Amino acid sequence: MDTPDLIFTDGSIITVDPETEGATAVAVLDGRIHAVGGRELLRMRGPGTDVIELSGRCLMPGFVEAHIHPARDQLMFSESVIDIRPMVCGSADAVRTAVHAAVAAGGTRPLLCYGLDPVLHSGFPEPTREWLDELAPGRPLVMWQNSGRVAWANTAALALAGLSADAADLPDGHFDRDRFGRPTGKAYGTPAILALVGRIVGEQLDSGLLAKEHQHLAARGVTLCGDMGFADEMRVLTAGLYRRGLAKVRTRFYEISSPGLETICPLDNGDDLFRQIGIKIRVDGGATAATAERLRAMVRAYHPHGWQIACRADDHTATEVVLDAYDSVLREYPRDDHRLRLEHCGAMTPEQYRRAGRLGVTCSLFMDHLYYWGDTEPECETQCVRARSALEADVRISFHNDSPVTPEEPLRNMACAITRTARSGRVLAAEEAINLDQAIRAQTIDAAYQLFADDITGSITPGKYADLVVLESDPHSVAPEELADIAVHSTYLAGRLTYRR
Ligand SMILES: [Zn+2]
Repeated sequence: MDTPDLIFTDGSIITVDPETEGATAVAVLDGRIHAVGGRELLRMRGPGTDVIELSGRCLMPGFVEAHIHPARDQLMFSESVIDIRPMVCGSADAVRTAVHAAVAAGGTRPLLCYGLDPVLHSGFPEPTREWLDELAPGRPLVMWQNSGRVAWANTAALALAGLSADAADLPDGHFDRDRFGRPTGKAYGTPAILALVGRIVGEQLDSGLLAKEHQHLAARGVTLCGDMGFADEMRVLTAGLYRRGLAKVRTRFYEISSPGLETICPLDNGDDLFRQIGIKIRVDGGATAATAERLRAMVRAYHPHGWQIACRADDHTATEVVLDAYDSVLREYPRDDHRLRLEHCGAMTPEQYRRAGRLGVTCSLFMDHLYYWGDTEPECETQCVRARSALEADVRISFHNDSPVTPEEPLRNMACAITRTARSGRVLAAEEAINLDQAIRAQTIDAAYQLFADDITGSITPGKYADLVVLESDPHSVAPEELADIAVHSTYLAGRLTYRR
């Protein structure tokens, strides 16, 4: 008889599966959950079985981060990148200090300051090329907004990027120009910004930044993520990481929408670790967002072929536009189990959730919006990320951090959904609070569902992969306010240890 490779025992276990609820032991064989039960599982142990006594710790399914940008997030580990995100630099002054310090440290290495936030860094003027030239004379310097949508370069950075006066705009990316048509240094949209910063970070992209990104995700207890900004240039690099066995997280990726289907790989691509399942369309948020008409055309181009569509819609109007487009394409091309997605859902109303529920649309909520921005945006008092309204409308929800916008913090997302507390301690729209078990589902099985991976992961169920996280304490045993402080002890992907504290 096959003996388990691992047996977890003597601790609390959250299975997120009604069939296995109340279990106190889990056996893992060949990367899969082999058995779930009580101490009797120890009888299966053989000479090669590693018995892990949880002793007060808690075992649960690995966290699922439904919406991140690994290609951008990995830059945080680059030597050329100065992290000025509001979680690191809390004010305009702190940004100034960080940028000045990086320049003053000397050297000739190009610098990329990532994370300027127009709201949380209020008082920081919009950068201009002249000001960036003064700040770092002759040295390439780029500032990149936290949303990822806008960046500003100085003259040396423009020269390094080889952007001459006749540089053409790119699909979904364009360069701001002076009256002679020359790029001013300001760029909108990922393709244009990548053209600006490619040389700054390009050489490092091969040397393990993505591997560091995966280590970082594993350290947060993440075992599956939805890559929402997949560009074709990343395909070889990402595939290489998986091929070399350096990947620590499963990825379901969404290619950035393009006008046609020409860059999309076949639907039956990839494997359980790494697979493209959809495309991402931005409907609001910046100069490169799709119009209602273009959105309808794109949804009609991709949905009938089986691709899942994820639309970013933060405000009420954009949400309406997306729901209209989904509604009409589902009438024309009905499909069960389409799991069409809405991203962020910051201002989505209860009525819109009911409509989403009727259409079978899934929603990924950016809970950190409430935590980090809730204090500065008055409308958050009443309408910020309404998780409870979503659940009452039978919408399956996930939480995400949109990293690098905010760092991956699944436990904080859950705490925030339960307590509705912003960073200052202020409680916002308390009636939208959900309970811990609902929050856990949004960060495990329901997020896996959204990523079409609930059949293989997202709960502790015999036959599924042993994608697991061990927390230092059981979330049920601490006050909700302390949830975010629980440390990750270890993480497993298909039974393989990917992180240990
Ligand atoms: Zn995003």
